[in-house]
Amino acid sequence: GVKAQPLLSLRGINMTFGGVKALKNVSFEVLPGEVHCLAGENGSGKSTLIKVISGVYRPADGAEIVFDGETISHMTPAMAQSRGIQIIWQDLALFPEMSVAENIAFQTLSGSRPRFVNYAAIRGIAEEALARLGVTLDVDRPLKDFAIAQRQIVAIARALVGEARIVFMDEPTASLTQSETDHLLAIVRTLSASGVAVVFVSHRLAEVLDISSRITVLRDGALVGVYPVEGMTQSDITEQMTGRTFDQNVRAR
Ligand code: ADP
Ligand code: MG
Repeated sequence: GVKAQPLLSLRGINMTFGGVKALKNVSFEVLPGEVHCLAGENGSGKSTLIKVISGVYRPADGAEIVFDGETISHMTPAMAQSRGIQIIWQDLALFPEMSVAENIAFQTLSGSRPRFVNYAAIRGIAEEALARLGVTLDVDRPLKDFAIAQRQIVAIARALVGEARIVFMDEPTASLTQSETDHLLAIVRTLSASGVAVVFVSHRLAEVLDISSRITVLRDGALVGVYPVEGMTQSDITEQMTGRTFDQNVRAR
């Protein structure tokens, strides 16, 4: 069949911190609109890879980053932002004292530097983004009134307002309850159905199998493989992550 052109493609990514090789010649590819899981044990390099993609870290020479057909030799956060590469950081990087609406519309407003801020316009932008996610929130209330699960939704809505083409979520369900997790997974599906690619990092393999179509596994900073999720079991993923067989993993517990 016809192979879809990747939206994002990285090759030869090396990243060293002092003596620690956090990424060793890693390649990574995301297709348009797919939900792609990045898996690996703690310290395997997942967050570092996301920081390279978003321009926070500069990888060693020889790296190749291609986004939507454009080769980017030195990604910066501003370039990532302007191309629709959006990251939902673990600390969410939101403003607790500001209203939900202001948090969602903030990037657009700071980009255009308006002299007068029209709150009705801000509210309109925010409500439209939330509606795309199928969510209703009181956008006039300060963000600090909301639980972490809702704040995450606010961060995703903000990414949409930033014309996201690809959204990275680094362990978004780590502090969510089961029902909050289910809600977030539904939102991820909505994003993906609207053509936005999602890269999802999670330790919870049941939700990885549930949400993603493909999975890239890292181990000790190196790429282990890229797998279609269909037909995979949780123990298959654990085997790839640890390099041990299912039986060995049972004994290691
Ligand atoms: P993961 O997100 O998969 O848990 P990380 O990407 O955070 O893994 O870390 C990969 C490796 O790089 C680890 O050994 C970690 O200790 C190291 N590392 C990550 N960030 C830094 C940093 N800023 N300074 C030094 N070492 C780091
Ligand atoms: Mg991490």
